[in-house]
Amino acid sequence: MQRRALITGINSQDGAYLARLLLEKGYEVVGGVRVGSQGSLWRLAELGIADRVRIVPVELLEMTNLLRTLERVQPGEVYHLAAQSIVGISFEHPVYTCDVTALGTLRLLEAIRTINPKIRFYQASSSEMFGNSEEAPQNEVTPFRPRSPYAFAKLFAHFATVNYREASGLFAVSGICFNHESPLRGEEFVTRKITMAVARIKAGLESELALGNLEARRDWGYAPEYVEAMYRMLQQERPDDYVIATGETHSVQEFVESAFAEVGLDWRNHVRIDPALLRPTDVHRLMGDATKARERLGWSPTVRFRDLVRIMVTADLKRVVG
Ligand code: GDP
Repeated sequence: MQRRALITGINSQDGAYLARLLLEKGYEVVGGVRVGSQGSLWRLAELGIADRVRIVPVELLEMTNLLRTLERVQPGEVYHLAAQSIVGISFEHPVYTCDVTALGTLRLLEAIRTINPKIRFYQASSSEMFGNSEEAPQNEVTPFRPRSPYAFAKLFAHFATVNYREASGLFAVSGICFNHESPLRGEEFVTRKITMAVARIKAGLESELALGNLEARRDWGYAPEYVEAMYRMLQQERPDDYVIATGETHSVQEFVESAFAEVGLDWRNHVRIDPALLRPTDVHRLMGDATKARERLGWSPTVRFRDLVRIMVTADLKRVVG
């Protein structure tokens, strides 16, 4: 029998790559999208799979909608990627962020428990939960110190997932993914904002790029590799939590330098610091230890920092210059 997966937030970067991966594996893929955001399916179109995915409306704020959706779709696996996922915005909309990202996940877990507790559930947890961790690198047992409404909402969802696994016996896993980027990343995130600006500056359409904190360090991986880890987590015999990361950390400034250097430009001639882009509290340094994923899932990343920068700059140049 063909396996059926429901991906919430299929219009996201990860949603698109995961949909492609599952289609390649012979799945029937159903994608959940919030009402009113059907227009944002450009990523599926870019991967050439828009007509191979069935789209259904999913509203995480509405319990009854989740119940009906699961009843209608009858998925064997649910990959829960939908969230208010922009850290900067979460400071301005903390309650909404928690309603969607924290309580939305809880509603979905409750709906699964009610409709079919055999459904396998993937929760998209985030390295932002580590926040200002004093330990580095961070792994599955590192204490969390969230630093934004987004991060504490994700932390709630993470522990909800763990508890539904332990108390209700759901096959529920939490993938603690460190930042992962690609040409399909939204421009709200710093990497894509940089690579898009580099392409536009190179093409002579712009001359300046405004950024906030250049010192922050992140463990940046390549998104298509991360969705493979998500899939593998749900194929294990037992549900568990895994850190997914490259183990390298680089500053925003390093990303900027590399991206401008890719097109032969000096970043210092183009980057301006805008204090309005600084966050009230920021996460200074993230670096993950994915040993457990390597040992149990056989997962390890191959795309390194320089490759990632090159892939993204090349794709944006192609978009801008043609
Ligand atoms: P996050 O790790 O999920 O918050 O991913 P982002 O890509 O949004 O941000 C990564 C880091 O880049 C954070 O420390 C931001 O403060 C920093 N940063 C510096 N300038 C910018 C900017 O203009 N936009 C964004 N989104 N982040 C910026």
